Amino acid sequence: MLAMVYTAPLELKMLDVDEPTPARGEVVIEVAAVGICGSELEGFASKSPFRVPPLIMGHEFSGRRMDTGEPVAVNPVVSCGGCDMCLRGMSNICRDRKILGIQRAGAFAQRVVVPERNCYLLPEDVPLVAAALVEPFANAIHAFRLLQQADPLPLRIGVIGAGTLGYLVAWVAQDRGTPHIAVAELSPERRDIVQRSGSYTVSDHLEGEFDAIFDAVGSSATRRTSLELLRPGGTAVWLGLHGPEPGIDGLALIRDEKRVLGTFCYQDVDFRAAVARVAAVNPSALATHPLDEGVGVFERLISGEVSSLKTLLLPSDGS
Ligand SMILES: [Zn+2]
Ligand SMILES: [Zn+2]
Repeated sequence: MLAMVYTAPLELKMLDVDEPTPARGEVVIEVAAVGICGSELEGFASKSPFRVPPLIMGHEFSGRRMDTGEPVAVNPVVSCGGCDMCLRGMSNICRDRKILGIQRAGAFAQRVVVPERNCYLLPEDVPLVAAALVEPFANAIHAFRLLQQADPLPLRIGVIGAGTLGYLVAWVAQDRGTPHIAVAELSPERRDIVQRSGSYTVSDHLEGEFDAIFDAVGSSATRRTSLELLRPGGTAVWLGLHGPEPGIDGLALIRDEKRVLGTFCYQDVDFRAAVARVAAVNPSALATHPLDEGVGVFERLISGEVSSLKTLLLPSDGS
């Protein structure tokens, strides 16, 4: 089958590879649509040790089960099911998690093997292309759920960075009725996409005071801002993975009882919520390309070309 393989640092190749074979409890998915994630661009461009070549990346995807023909979205986090975190229901931070497209083969391919329990049947009104957004959407739903455990009614929310994840976090905040949502984004193209999709205050930086700020970038500068602009007792939610530096003032954190929440992926409840609600997310800002154009598409994204909210590859015709 055709697959886009990360063969060496800074090298992607379109290759003919062996068909994947399912083990017990696994099924083969004919991939319909797979999103290119910012973490893949960053990991690839920075030669991150997190992804080890040779690897088929791709963790945001939908497709059809080969055995039943059913349309599904796939949760790429394969948890062990038996560790203390899994037993607490926190499968996203399982001590032995393997993520499809990172620690095992992902979906930049015509077919991919996944555990059957990671498949979520899609409602009829969800097109397979839109269903590739379920994964980042579940991420945003999870992040907002964690915030609401700390602050049930945040009224002023800031979002730093309007890539797919920042956009979707703002969307979830709006969907939950948050009266004031400000989004900071440096790219004018992305600011336009956000501006057109809701009643947000959109700018290249955040201004004022917030109950909660989501940092969807993850640099020391954005982490510092996410704390500085909080009201006393406010919450910074960190999801951006740009770099490791915290960039925070520890004393200010203590004196104003501010909180930092780290958030990673999603749990079953978030993924189910995302499947149920993804049809409402406006998919008009999706760019699609056939899988065999994937290498060029990847290179254009790394060079900073931004024309859409999310760029997807379509390994099969998506019908
Ligand atoms: Zn991702
Ligand atoms: Zn586990």
